Formats: sequence, structure tokens, C-alpha cells
Amino acid sequence: MKALQEEILQRGIVLSDGVLKVDSFLNHAIDPNLMTKIGEEFAHRFKDEGITKIITIESSGIAPALMTSIQLQSDLVFARKRKSLTMLDQLYTAKVYSFTKQQYSEISISKEFLQPSDNVLIIDDFLANGQAALGLIDIVKQAGATVAGLGIVIEKSFQPGREMLEKEGYRIESLARIASLSDGKVTFTSKKERVTQ
Ligand code: 5GP
Repeated sequence: MKALQEEILQRGIVLSDGVLKVDSFLNHAIDPNLMTKIGEEFAHRFKDEGITKIITIESSGIAPALMTSIQLQSDLVFARKRKSLTMLDQLYTAKVYSFTKQQYSEISISKEFLQPSDNVLIIDDFLANGQAALGLIDIVKQAGATVAGLGIVIEKSFQPGREMLEKEGYRIESLARIASLSDGKVTFTSKKERVTQ
């Protein structure tokens, strides 16, 4: 998605060979116009999948997921990173290793918001090692629902998340695919790579 790539080039900050900071439009401040376009693009790519529900993780997945849910007219629920102690047995939970925080945390979704009949689109801000995605997939499976696919705003294609999830048979649609963050520079995957990968 060209507008997203331009925003990444103009406002993204490469913190290291593995981490991109995009606080100015996705992870802290949010660009509503760009987020609208992101929602339209995800909706376009998944329009024929019969999505009934979008799930994501708080907090950075919520904005792109909300914009997509408006376009697809589907329900939306986000996994929480903190549990309410009063409702432990009414939750689906999964353990997730955080790429940025380098620690495990538990994510949860209340059982009342996920039904076996749901056809679920998973949306997240970044795909790195795929641990957040695996946690959400685990929760969808616990509910007996179906994963229709995953929509990722920024994929770091040099990390193993996509390959691992594709091997498991999941459809992944990423709006920006980064081939490298080496030397403080963002390089996107070429068109040719995109076709063959
Ligand atoms: P994964 O679970 O795929 O290893 O990592 C995905 C999660 O880690 C995303 O939900 C995102 O919050 C965070 N993340 C991974 N890589 C980056 C990065 O380069 N920049 C930022 N801002 N967040 C990242």
C-alpha cells in the first residue's frame, strides 16, 4: 500500500536492525486519514471471506481493526492484556511472548464475545515472529471458531512470522512488507519477491 510505505519512509524511525518505531501515526499518535485507507484496503482484500468478527490485541491493533470493521460491517473485539479477577473462568486466554517487551504476558477475550459460528479476521499492527498472531489463533480455536485470515499493517518479512503462519495454512495480507532495517534504512520487499513469497 503506497500511502503507508510513504508514511513509513517519511516518519518511521529505525531503532535497530530489528525494530521500527512508528509512534507518529500508528503506535502512539494515530493518523485518522491513513487509518481510514488501511481499513478500506483490508476490507477490499477480505471482502469475499464472509467475515463475521475481527479480533485484535490492545492497544495498537484497535485503530486499524476498527476502521476495517466499519468497512466490512463486522463485529470487533480486542484481546486484553490484563485480566479482570472477577471473571477468570469466563475467559479464553493464551500466553504470548512479546517481541518488543521481551517477556511473556497473557491475553484474554471474554467467552461471550466469540462464538463457534464466527469467521474471524485477525488484525494486528506488526508481524515479527508471529507470537501475537499465534496467541489470537489459539483463542479463536478455543472458541471453536474459524480463522479466515490475518491482516497485518507492517510485516517485517526478514523475521519468521509469515513463513511460520503460512506453513500452518493461514492467509496473511500485509499492507507494507519490510525486507530489511539494516543501516538505519527501511527497504521494502520488491514486487517480484511479493509474487514469489
Ligand atoms: P510478534 O508477536 O509477531 O513477534 O510481534 C508482533 C507484536 O510485537 C506486534 O503486536 C507489535 O506490538 C510488536 N512489534 C513487533 N515488532 C515491532 C516493531 O518493529 N515495532 C513496533 N513498534 N512494534 C513491534
